[in-house]
Amino acid sequence: METSFDVIVIGGGPAGGKCALELAKRGLKVLLAEKYSSFEENNFSSAGMLSETLGDFDLPLDIVGTYWSNFVVQSSSRPYTWKGAGQEGIVLNFGKLKQYLADEAQKHGATVWMGHRYESKEISGNSAQATFTDIAANSKITCSAKLLIDATGPVRKVMYDKVQAQPKMLVGTGIEYLVEVSDEVYARYKDDLTFFLGEKWADMGYSWIFPMDSNTLKVGSGRLVSTNQKRKDLKVITENILEHYMQAGEYKILDVHGGSLRYSLGMKDVFYRDRVLAVGDAVSTVNPLGGEGIRYAMENAEMAVPYIEAFVKRGKNKFGRFKFRWKRKYYLKWLICEILCLRIYLKYTDEKLDHRFAQYHKLANFEDAMENFFRFNFSNFRWKIFGFLFKKIMRR
Ligand SMILES: Cc1cc2nc3c(=O)[nH]c(=O)nc-3n(C[C@H](O)[C@H](O)[C@H](O)COP(=O)(O)OP(=O)(O)OC[C@H]3O[C@@H](n4cnc5c(N)ncnc54)[C@H](O)[C@@H]3O)c2cc1C
Repeated sequence: METSFDVIVIGGGPAGGKCALELAKRGLKVLLAEKYSSFEENNFSSAGMLSETLGDFDLPLDIVGTYWSNFVVQSSSRPYTWKGAGQEGIVLNFGKLKQYLADEAQKHGATVWMGHRYESKEISGNSAQATFTDIAANSKITCSAKLLIDATGPVRKVMYDKVQAQPKMLVGTGIEYLVEVSDEVYARYKDDLTFFLGEKWADMGYSWIFPMDSNTLKVGSGRLVSTNQKRKDLKVITENILEHYMQAGEYKILDVHGGSLRYSLGMKDVFYRDRVLAVGDAVSTVNPLGGEGIRYAMENAEMAVPYIEAFVKRGKNKFGRFKFRWKRKYYLKWLICEILCLRIYLKYTDEKLDHRFAQYHKLANFEDAMENFFRFNFSNFRWKIFGFLFKKIMRR
């Protein structure tokens, strides 16, 4: 068995898969190691996003669960709907996305080990050793490389030997049911990406209904974990939506899965240290407002690739530049989202939420909503806010 590589990528999520694929395409000797033996075992992500993601990352159509056209925010008292013109967004099959990236990496020459859990590292001179447990064989194996990539997502297992050493985190947790519903219920939700805010349907976070293929829907709820207060069970919230909001009648639960997000406030993660580079959610690429993270994890990995190649082939450590470029692009946007996240989920009452959304709904058309909630671009919208405030002052 080969145990010496240029780069060992640990974690087969969107960041790790994309990173391994792009490095293999550049001719590097890559190992991609994932702890689960199948990507179906941790199919935790709702994977809703804009359709442009497919083109941006050269992804095939067969990983798409379905398309959505409209964006709905349901408060405790009323819905706010933005109608799109066509197939504006997609909901991916998350397991298939990861399988596709790993398969492509393998086709381009990478070695892929499923069912291999990373345990520990040792850095000596100009090489790094990583030890894995082969879960099926219950045996240990140590490999060496010039660089280790921490793509283990929220656990950041490779960069930080101890959880206590990690920066201060905003922690979110979510649970999701994949349900098969009747034709009639499916027809009601198949074109919409629906989010719930406010106490009636969510709790310190948001809930959602995302469409999937063949009469299936993803129904879930997520929240910030920031107080010791006893909160409503996320399963209870999700079932409340199924039974009282959707009135789904007879539905079949096909799968229940969940996961967590750990986002470092102010993006304080360590990107590179001692032959370990972190990518994706291991450096808080997930958006702190909506929890959308798949596109950003892949984009971050893609951005890291030329710096990894320069390090491995020419010994050039320019990872500081990689961190600078990423933060230049996202620091401010994510900071605005951090502020909105803490206000919307922790501070606003139902009345305040309704007031804010009613105002926003009046001002923002579908394109504005997509720019704000999915591209996190607020620049065009600031003129609308300015106009709105100006009219308000003039009316006084
Ligand atoms: C409930 C939920 C819903 C979400 N919904 C959406 C959504 O609708 N749209 C969206 O864009 N994003 C969504 N996200 C966020 C998105 O899934 C993440 O931001 C994205 O998956 C991050 O990719 P990553 O590769 O950085 O990390 P991950 O996807 O977390 O991948 C990390 C990988 O590392 C592996 N790993 C961990 N430890 C080890 C170890 N010791 N050894 C080997 N392997 C290890 C894990 O098994 C995993 O496969 C959601 C997240 C959650 C929790």
